[in-house]
Amino acid sequence: MSGMESKERKTPVLYLVVPCYNEEEVVEKSADVLGGKMRRLLHEGRIAEGSKVMFVNDGSKDNTLPLLLGIASRDSLFSVVGLAGNYGHQSAILAGMMTARQYADAVVTIDADLQQDIEALDKFLACYMAGSEVVYGVRNDRHSDGFFKKGTATLYYDLMHLLGSKVITNHADYRLMSRKALDALAEYQETNLFLRGLIPTMGFPSDVVYFDVKAREAGHSKYTLNKMMTLALDGITSMSVRPLRMISALGFIVFVFSFVMSVISLVDWVKGNNVPGYTTTMIVSLLIGGVTLLSLGIIGEYVGKIYMETKHRPRYIIDTVVWKESGADDAEGKEE
Ligand code: UDP
Ligand code: MG
Repeated sequence: MSGMESKERKTPVLYLVVPCYNEEEVVEKSADVLGGKMRRLLHEGRIAEGSKVMFVNDGSKDNTLPLLLGIASRDSLFSVVGLAGNYGHQSAILAGMMTARQYADAVVTIDADLQQDIEALDKFLACYMAGSEVVYGVRNDRHSDGFFKKGTATLYYDLMHLLGSKVITNHADYRLMSRKALDALAEYQETNLFLRGLIPTMGFPSDVVYFDVKAREAGHSKYTLNKMMTLALDGITSMSVRPLRMISALGFIVFVFSFVMSVISLVDWVKGNNVPGYTTTMIVSLLIGGVTLLSLGIIGEYVGKIYMETKHRPRYIIDTVVWKESGADDAEGKEE
């Protein structure tokens, strides 16, 4: 298509990108539900021939990959991107989107566990047809989450906004991106990937779609507390240097405080008031020690990030791609 796009968009070739990490309990069901929805959309003429579900196997250690390969070999509606190892949710999504953009006009990323309501796809498509390059799925409420997850999530979004990140509250990675937006995303080379924070900074026309969250269809959450903490930290340090500024501010406050304390001690000394002062000494040294260590820790986080960025390592390595021409089920499958 030339640079002069018409206002009316043509019906898109849509790819659903589905990251899977140890999802053997759920992938068959997932393929049924997602595939069924895609067929209905195809039938209604709301997506174009050639649309597909693209599973990304993120180095699963269970039976996920063989199951996915089976699904893709039976039906050309499904394709599989097999990563060489476990690179994490964000990189898996990126790998899927970057592969899908070669074929698709629009890509929607969705979790394998069917927690995110696939029926919202109609609304995503309507926004795309109306000209949005990015459409964010935002969950209606969090009643399916436990108290802990709900509380930490709310706190997290508040903290992110406070620290200057543009994340959209309660938007996970259920999102539509047009090919134009994906081509722009491909220009971002950062290793510390936090898509939720990054994509809003790109600045394309965007829209928001609300959807209901269900309980996980099967299996358990693949986001361990550790993975969640890493994502949370990455989210902050990859999007904002405000913590570093806060250290400077803290340093300034401590400096003013010590200056005042010094003057007071000097005056006391001149007056001959040599109080024992054990408590003050303890408080001051503990405070300064604590602040110094905290500051070093925060700076260390950023130094670590810089270290990883300077390596320019690939963010994922693709091992296999299984992709068949749509409708080629009877003919010989094409494998890349
Ligand atoms: N996932 C992944 N790699 C990982 C962890 C998770 O591809 O290292 C996938 C997982 O298979 C699922 C999605 O990311 O499709 C979201 O994970 P999950 O549902 O476990 O997270 P939660 O919904 O509990 O936040
Ligand atoms: Mg989930």
